[in-house]
Amino acid sequence: MMYDLCTRNGLPHRNTKKWIVAQTEEQWAAALKTHEHAQKIGVPTRLIGRAEAQALEPEVQALAGIVESPTTGIVDSHALMTYLQGDFEDRGGDCAFLTRVTGIEALNGGKDGYRITAVTSDGTETSITAETLVNSAGNYACHINNMILPPQRHRTPYYAKGTYFSYAASFPKTSVLVYPATLPGYGGLGTHLTLDLGGRIRFGPDVEWVDNADDLVPSPARLEQALPEIKAYLPNVDPEAISLDYCGIRPKLGRGGAVNTGKGFQDFIIQEEEGFPGFINLLGIESPGLTSSLAIGEMVKGLLCWDWIVTQGNCHYAKNRATFRSYRRAPGKIGGSRVLGVGSVELRVRRRSGDGEINTLVLDNVLHMPNARCNGLSLPKYRETHPSTGVDGHGDHVEARSDNGSEPEWYAEGYHGLPRVVLAGEPQGESHLSDDEPYKLSVMASNEEMEKLWQRVENRSWVT
Ligand SMILES: Cc1cc2nc3c(=O)[nH]c(=O)nc-3n(C[C@H](O)[C@H](O)[C@H](O)COP(=O)(O)OP(=O)(O)OC[C@H]3O[C@@H](n4cnc5c(N)ncnc54)[C@H](O)[C@@H]3O)c2cc1C
Repeated sequence: MMYDLCTRNGLPHRNTKKWIVAQTEEQWAAALKTHEHAQKIGVPTRLIGRAEAQALEPEVQALAGIVESPTTGIVDSHALMTYLQGDFEDRGGDCAFLTRVTGIEALNGGKDGYRITAVTSDGTETSITAETLVNSAGNYACHINNMILPPQRHRTPYYAKGTYFSYAASFPKTSVLVYPATLPGYGGLGTHLTLDLGGRIRFGPDVEWVDNADDLVPSPARLEQALPEIKAYLPNVDPEAISLDYCGIRPKLGRGGAVNTGKGFQDFIIQEEEGFPGFINLLGIESPGLTSSLAIGEMVKGLLCWDWIVTQGNCHYAKNRATFRSYRRAPGKIGGSRVLGVGSVELRVRRRSGDGEINTLVLDNVLHMPNARCNGLSLPKYRETHPSTGVDGHGDHVEARSDNGSEPEWYAEGYHGLPRVVLAGEPQGESHLSDDEPYKLSVMASNEEMEKLWQRVENRSWVT
């Protein structure tokens, strides 16, 4: 995704490749684990033999072995950020710089949105209300989390400072990035060799646990510690040419290892918080958060869907766990699709076109299908459970009325040729529907499948 974006928009980048180098048998075992894991998840890696290594990068030492990541590269991070900001603003986004969020109130548990209070640089306090709130506050993401979630769900932030060292000499040189194989339990990826787009070498970052996220003074004492690590893979390095450069702080959720073989390894947390609809937490987005930023964006996009399409299947279904008012876990499959649970959903809907009157539509026995393209309101099921409500449909327009047709209940309007329930506040979540493809949105469950589902949930208690 990143290469594609950079190529399409002329952002400076280079596919440098990366070598993970091992000096000991223990490091080699760790490097092989990374290789095996990469193969499993479809990330290309390959082992490099001694002769090839010598021919390609004669200055790099790897006594026990090398794993190459051929797709690793570098990007001009400032150019990338400027592009993303411009793209966001072109699409109607507003950035509020020099503005600090000081408080957040979940209105009606988040069902009516979030009131965000912020203070600008001149001390002016402002507030806005948002239906969807994505917490991507980096080192302060735990603080934002703790403003919203109850005390038992508060998070403690940990800070791993990383100091970089510049290299002023033109020898030795490499054309690949070089990472020492990381042993389990190490908080970072080792003091590695990185290149900038001009081909200049920089070493770092190391790992120094600090208590203050604003502690941004590079630590001179770290150079002594980093030197043996650097010399191990670049023996001809000139120590006199290495000097302190700058540092940064990574947000960590624990003091565990940085690789998935490490004890206490803590992956990124990217989730809509249970019981707080529309509140998405991005926690522990440390390295490689920049590389992953576009993929993280896609993931967040997929977390929220507000499209409730009226279908002709025999089951209601919802894509997001946070949509449910009550819920029972019931992992299994229905109609070949993954189901994680079943529960009730409360939708705040507009009663009829042209007025702002709001109604609450309760749907029971809704299947939680995380891979569904959207949410589905089954018309046959609705008719079965609401016998006194009449539902009329003309093409992609549907109207539900109770009391012999006198009382409007909810309605649906055309959206990509499909009848979509009109929700109060018209929340603008991400839609996975378009005009281009035909969709099969009706979920048909057989009696046997439903019986199995109820057997699975029988012994589980309801969660609200
Ligand atoms: C030393 C170091 C080396 C790294 N190397 C790499 C690498 O090689 N590759 C890679 O992919 N990643 C790397 N990273 C990680 C990468 O920089 C982060 O993962 C990425 O910046 C996270 O992006 P983010 O938007 O989640 O958070 P950030 O970039 O930290 O942005 C968070 C923003 O929220 C703002 N904010 C916080 N609190 C508030 C508040 N209360 N009100 C208003 N605004 C607030 C902050 O001011 C900041 O602008 C490195 C990080 C460090 C420190």
